[in-house]
Amino acid sequence: MAGRVSMAKENFQLGEGKVQISRQEIKKRIKELGKEIAKDYRGTDIHVICVLNGAFLFMADLVRSIDLPLTVDFISLSSYGSRTQTNGEVQILKDLNASLKNKHVLIVEDIVDTGYTMTYLLKYIQMREPISVKIASLISKPSRRKVDVDIDYLGFEIEDAFIFGYGLDDQQYKRNYPFISSYKD
Ligand code: IMP
Repeated sequence: MAGRVSMAKENFQLGEGKVQISRQEIKKRIKELGKEIAKDYRGTDIHVICVLNGAFLFMADLVRSIDLPLTVDFISLSSYGSRTQTNGEVQILKDLNASLKNKHVLIVEDIVDTGYTMTYLLKYIQMREPISVKIASLISKPSRRKVDVDIDYLGFEIEDAFIFGYGLDDQQYKRNYPFISSYKD
């Protein structure tokens, strides 16, 4: 029925695995991050870059919690290697549309795991001469890090577990889960 709003179900019908971060926790943390970002950048515009596909939901919720004038752009990267084992090689699948010159860039990523993708992306963005670059990542798995990455705005730090939902995929599926799950207990 059009226009009818039902209570969001935590036990999403399609949901597999165990919920690790609930939709309420995600919502609350994103509000906090949005406030922090708005405070830090007060008085300036920002240019927010979403790293596809994983960050699309985080991006959508985060920008709506940032009370600042902002523009958005999207980039898609793929790393070579298997799902759980990247070898550090990164390829651009969809490039940015807009120039970064004279912009304060905020990169929005779903998860920093080994750090290879973010390290590559940072260099790529810095070459385009923005005024500044900062990183917002919903998740970090510090125990998996191969290269150091400074995350300016971090949602949650987790142990080494494969997670999915809220944008993150399990073989391209499960991005639509409104929470973050894993198969681990
Ligand atoms: P990194 O280059 O190893 O830091 O990996 C970054 C990318 O790997 C992320 O943007 C995700 O697309 C993917 N990734 C890493 N860990 C997970 C996970 O637990 N679930 C889903 N995707 C992941």
